[in-house]
Amino acid sequence: MPMPETKYEHGYRYVPFITLSLTEPKPRIWITLSGCNFKCKGCFSIARDTVGEPMTVDGLINWVEKSNRAYNGNTLLEEAVITGGEPTLDRDFLMDLVLNLKMRIEVKHITLSTNGYLLDRKSVMELKDIGLDVVKLDIKAYNESTHQWYTGMSNRPVLKAARYLWESKLDFRVETVLMPEIVDVEEIERIASFLAQIDPGIKYKVIKFAPGEAREKVTRRPSDNEIQLAVNSASKYLRNVAGGKACVQQFASPESREEEAKKWVRVYPDMKTETIIAKPGGFEVS
Ligand code: SF4
Repeated sequence: MPMPETKYEHGYRYVPFITLSLTEPKPRIWITLSGCNFKCKGCFSIARDTVGEPMTVDGLINWVEKSNRAYNGNTLLEEAVITGGEPTLDRDFLMDLVLNLKMRIEVKHITLSTNGYLLDRKSVMELKDIGLDVVKLDIKAYNESTHQWYTGMSNRPVLKAARYLWESKLDFRVETVLMPEIVDVEEIERIASFLAQIDPGIKYKVIKFAPGEAREKVTRRPSDNEIQLAVNSASKYLRNVAGGKACVQQFASPESREEEAKKWVRVYPDMKTETIIAKPGGFEVS
């Protein structure tokens, strides 16, 4: 198995910003750790590259605490989503972060958003034991050569991670981006069939490819009808299938209509802030 490319110093992760929700009744935060072991052609995250400031867990927790106090007063955080980039690049950093979010600032729920490549059985169980609640696993493609072409890495460890997550009984869901002619309806069906062999109750979401946000416009945006077809195909195997857009706060834009929008504040390492607005996260099909 090829070793992932890692661009972090031990004990540090580069962090470009953290993002707090302002419209949710219960405060939530997204912690974006930069650097990734995949090189997805359609990646829409600036955090695929090493961007931001190097932070220790202690420095990051202090920053989260200070930012939450500034915007939410004494209200404890309901949820922290650890995302990227890829949060699992430095296992010890991730463990320490989860532990500190739970113990030091008493975050109620902690979600990990990951490509799954570095998740083994042991690390999944350890993360659960120290307080991780939810995992969102991306399966980019079932076909190995498509996965290699799109991400630069094998999908074998990712498929194994799906089984480890199920075995751990963590609350987990899987997402795939529908990319016409690359990861199409048939490929979504193959992923759903694979997941159903583990458990037909696994939650699965089909996401729309958004060429406007992608690094390489490898294909076009699928229509709502194509998303519905993919959802219908996956639903032949799985009981909980939805269709929609990716993480909405990534797509904040000034053109979003205020009355439909959600608001977040993005806090940078120098404590400069930016309020961002985004439309709700697409339609749900169940
Ligand atoms: S795994 Fe996620 S962050 Fe990494 S390159 Fe792929 S889409 Fe980007």
